[in-house]
Amino acid sequence: MQVYGLVGNPVGHSLSPPMHEAAYEATGVDARYVTFEPELSAIEAAITGADALGIAGLNVTIPFKQDVLELVDPDPLAERIGAVNTIDFGPDGPVGYNTDAAGVTRALERHGVELDGSAAVVVGAGGAGRAAAFALADAGSSVHIANRTPAKAEELASAVPGATGGGLDTLDRIHDADILVNATSVGMEAPDETPVPASYLHADLAVLDAVYTPIETRLLREAADAGAVTVDGAWMLLLQGVEAFEVWTGLDAPVEAMNTALRSHLSDD
Ligand code: NAP
Repeated sequence: MQVYGLVGNPVGHSLSPPMHEAAYEATGVDARYVTFEPELSAIEAAITGADALGIAGLNVTIPFKQDVLELVDPDPLAERIGAVNTIDFGPDGPVGYNTDAAGVTRALERHGVELDGSAAVVVGAGGAGRAAAFALADAGSSVHIANRTPAKAEELASAVPGATGGGLDTLDRIHDADILVNATSVGMEAPDETPVPASYLHADLAVLDAVYTPIETRLLREAADAGAVTVDGAWMLLLQGVEAFEVWTGLDAPVEAMNTALRSHLSDD
């Protein structure tokens, strides 16, 4: 039996265990998925220990995604993003990936959104914003990053091919955009908050909200009212997990089984 898991602090309410265990059941992979919550100062010991114990793979979440970069051999995309959310413990040691990036592009593509040649606005320049900006640029989007702290958006834009960055006063770029990604935590557990005024939303837009609690944010509600294509944060969560499963096992992930498991747990909340 293989052991996979999630390392973070806290990890108590993670939806990854039911999602991955549904994948093992659907594919017949003999594995378990468990959560680990090391002390903040113990992440290096945790990764070394996991490797020594023969753990097959780990997802990594807040607050360790950046710290882990130095503890693994990151693939080029994870290195550019500056964060690792998936570790594969291979024979040559731990290799780090960032599957949040694929979570963004696969979620949009699954909703019929054409990325190549599109104009995208990413709101937020933290971990999710970095993954979204690199992923969209690599897929052929021209990306504008708008962030509350403008310097962070400008710094990120200087690393992302062809991107521009600015403060939230540049959100008017959404008028001419095809894709909007909310990569801020605005709207999380606070259904009355939105990072984007409704007047910027329009029918030619696809809107992905990285926030998945609640599943229907005010941003997505107002985007639907404006006639936009809406993609909720559970799609990103699902598809980063799908990508991790595929990295670990080399198999095609059972996407429907994972989606059903994930959404049944989301609706329990
Ligand atoms: P993070 O690194 O802490 O970044 C937070 C971002 O939100 C920053 O850009 C921050 O701006 C912005 N922000 C926070 N409060 C704000 C406010 N009141 N007004 C405007 N901007 C504000 O967090 P993260 O890891 O990127 O996560 C961001 C969100 O994405 C969270 O809700 C997280 O749950 C979600 N997420 C979802 C998935 C998924 O699979 N669906 C994956 C990863 C993350 P400043 O730079 O100005 O502080």
